[in-house]
Amino acid sequence: MSSHSEDLRAKIKAIVASCKGDPTELLTILREVQRLWRRIPDEAITAVAEELDIPRVHVEGTATFYHFLTEQHAGDYTIYVNTSVTAEMAGAAEVIATLESELGVKMGSNTADDRIGLRKTSCIGMCDQEPAILINDTVFTAVTPERVRELVAGMRAGVPIAALVRPSLDGNNALPSIGSEVRNHLRRPGPVIFAPYAAGDALRRAMELGSVEVVEQVKAAGLRGRGGAGFPTGQKWSLCRAAPADGRYVICNVDEGEPGTFKDRVLMTERAEMVFEAMTIAGYAVEAREGILYLRGEYAYLRPYLEQTLEALRARRLLGRKILGTRFSFDIRIKQGAGAYICGEESALIESAEGKRGQPRNRPPFPVTSGYLHKPTIVNNPETLCCALQIVRNGPEWFRRLGTPASTGVKLLSIAGDCDEPGVYEVEWGLSVQEVLNMCKARGAFAVQVGGPSGVCISQGQFHRKLCYEDLPTGGAFTIFGKGRDLLSIVHNQMEFFRDESCGFCVPCRAGNALLVKSLEKIMVGSGTAAELVSIRQLGRLVKSTSRCGLGQTAPNPLLSTIENFADYYAGKVRQDVDFVSQFSLEHAVADACAAAHRSPNLREE
Ligand code: SF4
Repeated sequence: MSSHSEDLRAKIKAIVASCKGDPTELLTILREVQRLWRRIPDEAITAVAEELDIPRVHVEGTATFYHFLTEQHAGDYTIYVNTSVTAEMAGAAEVIATLESELGVKMGSNTADDRIGLRKTSCIGMCDQEPAILINDTVFTAVTPERVRELVAGMRAGVPIAALVRPSLDGNNALPSIGSEVRNHLRRPGPVIFAPYAAGDALRRAMELGSVEVVEQVKAAGLRGRGGAGFPTGQKWSLCRAAPADGRYVICNVDEGEPGTFKDRVLMTERAEMVFEAMTIAGYAVEAREGILYLRGEYAYLRPYLEQTLEALRARRLLGRKILGTRFSFDIRIKQGAGAYICGEESALIESAEGKRGQPRNRPPFPVTSGYLHKPTIVNNPETLCCALQIVRNGPEWFRRLGTPASTGVKLLSIAGDCDEPGVYEVEWGLSVQEVLNMCKARGAFAVQVGGPSGVCISQGQFHRKLCYEDLPTGGAFTIFGKGRDLLSIVHNQMEFFRDESCGFCVPCRAGNALLVKSLEKIMVGSGTAAELVSIRQLGRLVKSTSRCGLGQTAPNPLLSTIENFADYYAGKVRQDVDFVSQFSLEHAVADACAAAHRSPNLREE
């Protein structure tokens, strides 16, 4: 064995030992391998498999699934540029062009010395401060070409990445344990989540009520999951509690990857204690002893602060063994993703938390009966958990007085796009789209996407509609498009996102979304027809109805909802006089072969 191989083996052994040889920590181990070698060497895959005593194919499967794990060297400094819609609107193209010219490389490649790698990525949760980039887990926001030149000069000079940050003074972002240039942009704190809060009060109240009554109160409050699906939270807790088991789990899903969503980022920055206490209350309610906070890879910069917060809670006996001197013990650990939108889907998240590829499971069984390690598990969004905590503290009647009859309480909105005050707003359910537009000082909105690309895009004539389950349900993303924006480019960006983020398991999602992108591209170049709009609708409905998980079931929405709500716009973009326009060009198709044979691709010249 060469000294290089011996060194690699020794390091892998130490990494695996630091994770106690636990195969469910495989993703943690691979993240560390990536950090050390800037890629996942083939040799490392074998070594990890041997150290964990699991099949090599299992390790390879996980190593090849996540965006932030790479087979090729990703550069000592890896720059990931967000290319989601709001980033493009804010000037990401100019940032990319400057990066390419300063580095002398094209997107997707490294400088010759592998010092700096340049990559694209999808939404990194900074839509209110784009263009944003990640460099080795550190976030840089509102990046300009001038700032690019400074950053590149710093990296070339070998400056540690943390030293290039200009710390924000917005709330906890200024703390040394975060030290980030991210701003909260918390524009409107409300009466529930960002109300005054004292750690421990709600937990004490929960223990006075007893675990059964806690579940009953959450049910009585009418709380529904804030991640988008809107499943009744009390019912979820009740089902988990009723499932026979020798262990249960509480998972907090902090993997908001929907482009346009960033509220959980602010929640974890300013309300981490509340989220952890709420997880503990949930654990008490369903009789679980262990909680997992699944943090998206893009929010790695929050990890030290979150670990510190957990330690502080343990020191105050609000977490850990014998909480508040009772017989109830519950602890929380953090697991991190590595860049995969699909892991926001609860069963994919559970797979990922177990160290596997983030592929959704067949359901039933649902996680409430067979979740993490096949034990009954509740998976809740942090916003849902914070609402549950306040329900326990203030009672279900108090919560029901907020919002509408079928949509009780408040909702956090992540507002981005063409407005003067993008950021996070805590509002009661039932506000109209127009009221929200006024609130954030929108500029000439002609379209609003409610609930992100997987939600619905509405036109001006529908701005009277209300945000609530009775009308426009939403997971929180609220993206504004002003006059002058190109709707087809917006939809194209989002359809490409879904195509690229499909886990590939089922054909309708894997192939259908790719076909929808191609059809849209035909319209964009002027070769679409009215008949093809009908085909797009049919194919879109097919993808939605035959896909296995929420990603495929909502992926065609950017296209379908704009075709429905902007019918005149699309009518002006397609040809009405013919049913089909061929885009096939024989000369183009044979161009590569002709080049190889040193012949002209222009057939008429032959
Ligand atoms: Fe994977 Fe898409 Fe099927 Fe979901 S619908 S399981 S993302 S292929």
